Amino acid sequence: MTDEVMYAELHCAHCDQETLHALVYAGRLIVSSTCQICHMQVKHEPGDLRIHYIKDLENRIATKPARLWRRFWKSPVGLMWSMPRKMMQQPGKFWGEIKSLFR
Ligand SMILES: [Zn+2]
Repeated sequence: MTDEVMYAELHCAHCDQETLHALVYAGRLIVSSTCQICHMQVKHEPGDLRIHYIKDLENRIATKPARLWRRFWKSPVGLMWSMPRKMMQQPGKFWGEIKSLFR
């Protein structure tokens, strides 16, 4: 199994801000994330980061109606195509992040 590296903005405890992190995957599991600013590496238990990450995303769009989120969890892919146009105008990066969680 080859490791794969992805980059995402996550909160770094050391920098105390959102920084670019290199996420190392072994297969589908994230094994570590490394802050690209201070190079602090955090090792993750399988699935750990993914849960944090989903909660983080949830906070970031906490202003959106809760019912939209319930629909999202029921049918993430289906909803992707029925999002109100207003939400589709969010930065593409955001949608890339969500889609990458459900690959
Ligand atoms: Zn950092």
